[in-house]
Amino acid sequence: MRIHELKRRLREAGAGPSHEQRILRLWSHALPRDSGRRLPHSFFPSSLMEALPAIEAELAGLARIHTVHPGADGSERLLVALADGQTVESVLLPRDGLCVSSQVGCAVGCRFCMTGQGGLLRQVGSAEIIAQVALARTRRKVRKVVFMGMGEPAHNLDNVMEAIELLGTVGNIGHKNLVFSTVGDPRAFERLQQERVKPALALSLHTTKAGLRKTLLPRAPNMTPEELVDAGERYARATGYPIQYQWALLEGVNDGEDEIEGIVRLLSGKYGVLNMIPFNAVDGVSFSRPSWERCEQIARTLHERGILTKLRDSAGQDVDGGCGQLRARAAAEAPVVLRRGAAAATATAGSLR
Ligand code: SF4
Repeated sequence: MRIHELKRRLREAGAGPSHEQRILRLWSHALPRDSGRRLPHSFFPSSLMEALPAIEAELAGLARIHTVHPGADGSERLLVALADGQTVESVLLPRDGLCVSSQVGCAVGCRFCMTGQGGLLRQVGSAEIIAQVALARTRRKVRKVVFMGMGEPAHNLDNVMEAIELLGTVGNIGHKNLVFSTVGDPRAFERLQQERVKPALALSLHTTKAGLRKTLLPRAPNMTPEELVDAGERYARATGYPIQYQWALLEGVNDGEDEIEGIVRLLSGKYGVLNMIPFNAVDGVSFSRPSWERCEQIARTLHERGILTKLRDSAGQDVDGGCGQLRARAAAEAPVVLRRGAAAATATAGSLR
């Protein structure tokens, strides 16, 4: 379901603008209909009162917790079941953050990412994105939402921007605490500038070499690292939010002195911060994680050369933390029926992709 369809249904049921706002606010905050005192539910028109139970049941069914995987760092990975049985991952991050998924699978096919190995299965609807936030809010406060889970937000732009608009208004998330994370797509740069709610931007850089970037991110739009940083810099200056440049550190691939020189050349004087995340080992993905000492050395060198660099472990990595790993593990563990009546029709969901 998409948010504009939900709004249309509410209006058809007799909701006025204030009723609609209240219902969307309560839903996105996971609050019951009778919470607060300013506009008690008894003020809703009777036609809306009649329609609401069915609509609320549908909203509640958009996202349900499949499994919970607490991490030692205070994060909590949720495998979330959508209404059609597909699953996505949401991660409750330390300090009131939430990482949401924008697609089931992903078409970009990054070589170091579990999600990218299976291709795109379907888009996540804007209402399903809000449902991930509402679900998280039943467990913890959420004050920051990052679109860094499964999927490439730029490949599902309408749904993601509709969700961002709601989260940045009735959802009560500060605009700079909404983080649109992308491999870089000219359509996304253009669109974000035009929106009323402008999120902060995270750009997956990973290397300063155009050829290597094409190998690592095979189906990312054709932008060189220079073009990516130029577009990021324009957005940063226009919004006043620094760009978060993302870099998965892969041993022997993008952790050399040549890349350090490239980063200094590309990012010196730019309004941004470089987040370096040592790669998490994934079965079936043939990259290695550099030693922590090497990662610290890279970060220290960059700092000394004037590049604001943060070295971080991805949240919850002690619980199969790589993006898409929970889904893959659940698929491997739970046989599913393919088609009613098909002979011997069971297989792992992973084998369907
Ligand atoms: S890292 Fe992100 S963009 Fe790349 S395949 Fe994985 S989900 Fe898609």
